[in-house]
Amino acid sequence: MEKKNIDWANLGFGYIKTDYRYVSNYKNGAWDEGVITEDDKVVISECAGVLQYAQTVFEGMKAYTTTDGRTVVFRPDLNAKRMAESAARLEMPVFPEDRFLDAVKQVVKANEAYVPPFGSGATLYLRPYMFGSNPVIGVKPADEYQFRIFATPVGPYFKGGVKPLTIRVSDFDRAAPNGTGHIKAGLNYAMSLHAIVDAHNQGYDENMYLDAATRTYVEETGGANFLFVTKDGKVVTPKSNSILPSITRRSLIQVAQEYLGLEAEEREIPLEEVKDMAECGLCGTAAVISPVGKIVDHGKEICLPSGMTEMGPITKKLYDTLTGIQMGTIKAPEGWVVEIK
Ligand SMILES: *Cc1c(COP(=O)(O)O)cnc(C)c1O
Repeated sequence: MEKKNIDWANLGFGYIKTDYRYVSNYKNGAWDEGVITEDDKVVISECAGVLQYAQTVFEGMKAYTTTDGRTVVFRPDLNAKRMAESAARLEMPVFPEDRFLDAVKQVVKANEAYVPPFGSGATLYLRPYMFGSNPVIGVKPADEYQFRIFATPVGPYFKGGVKPLTIRVSDFDRAAPNGTGHIKAGLNYAMSLHAIVDAHNQGYDENMYLDAATRTYVEETGGANFLFVTKDGKVVTPKSNSILPSITRRSLIQVAQEYLGLEAEEREIPLEEVKDMAECGLCGTAAVISPVGKIVDHGKEICLPSGMTEMGPITKKLYDTLTGIQMGTIKAPEGWVVEIK
């Protein structure tokens, strides 16, 4: 397969139109057979459910080339399952998980020329999503839906080297205790835009959201889950039913326990405890782990001992091990790295 002539190492994280995408429509209670198409345009009613009442969910994952030249995706079964759960919460029909996996393979296969070569640090980002497509004006779920997956090549996350982030404790809330914080839906992002623009204007990279009910426990940043390392070398991540269950974070907990022999647990983490942590990172598909150097709580600075120039030692080990598993230099647990043939 001849690759596209793209400067992979200097790509950013932006949309670049690729040649093929997958589309399936839901009508009269059933999904059609689905198709790979060159048509990148969506044509829907001006009154489509998604446009009026934001009935839409999505996923994010990546395809890449391993050290031995295989094209693979990482744990796509978990994306399929999470999207099914997101859809159910918004009263949308589930796109069957086996068909989701098949569609992912079809899109990657069709766009193989856009899968960056091993060593470039770039990946082919995949965006499965689904939305209510027929007219809805009285508030109710749509009757018709469209499921799509497009692919877009994205550059290495740590381009100029690793730079630990400075984040602030946000006065805005992200998710209500029994709301929709645990599903991957655009609605959780629309309401976060003001908070992130404001954070950037104040010189911060990200927001740390607290639990909305008591504002005492750490939740997440709105696009990534937190991972902390305690001073005695234990890995801890926040437990809450209003954060998005990050596949990267769940994988890192398993890596900590099974590959690094560390104690790892998911539990409530009071903001008060953060000043005693040794390391902090943000987990998500894009970066795997992005180190946090400083957390600012209304003028009070919490400086992580790992500092502002590099990843903390345990964060680094976690990062190296998971990326090694993904790239094929370290043996992966069964089913984690799925080859596109
Ligand atoms: C997608 C997402 C994450 C990261 O999840 P991964 O599966 O690791 O990519 C974290 N928080 C939110 C709100 C997200 O939407």
